[in-house]
Amino acid sequence: MAMFEICPLCRHVREENEQNYCGCVRKDYISEKDFIWADERLAGVALKLMDKGFLVRACLMDEILPRTKTAIRIHFDKHYEVESLFREMPPDWHTETFTPSDDKSFRHTVLVDYLEWSDSEEDMEGELTLTISNLETWVEELDGEAVKAVLTLAGYPVAPITHKPDML
Ligand SMILES: [Zn+2]
Repeated sequence: MAMFEICPLCRHVREENEQNYCGCVRKDYISEKDFIWADERLAGVALKLMDKGFLVRACLMDEILPRTKTAIRIHFDKHYEVESLFREMPPDWHTETFTPSDDKSFRHTVLVDYLEWSDSEEDMEGELTLTISNLETWVEELDGEAVKAVLTLAGYPVAPITHKPDML
């Protein structure tokens, strides 16, 4: 599956490539790490979450056991400690806290769904499509202004944060 990169500033979605800057900003003004990395099937939900005021880091499909179990993970850039934001999520979707093994101080929230496959390819694709579309519907129905107000009140940024590229 193709991986896409989304520009946090202009929301331009493109296939992952060597270029580590977007046409909307000068090269020196954005770091590679600011681009959102998304599986092609999850780029749509990433954009919808960004519209609602969430800062998204990466949207990944992770195979846990080859061909039998997969996790869909939407990594946010922040640890959103606001329970009310994630009420009434679609079936099987839940939040987890992710702590990178190399930096315990940087925790962030992840939306996760674990999918268990039966043998047929067709079932797999159908279930995957349904799971992603359930999440998309849930995001669409969020009241963006209310979400932004809650996030702002809790001290979270609702606009993209960008970094200057690391100088080598
Ligand atoms: Zn851009």
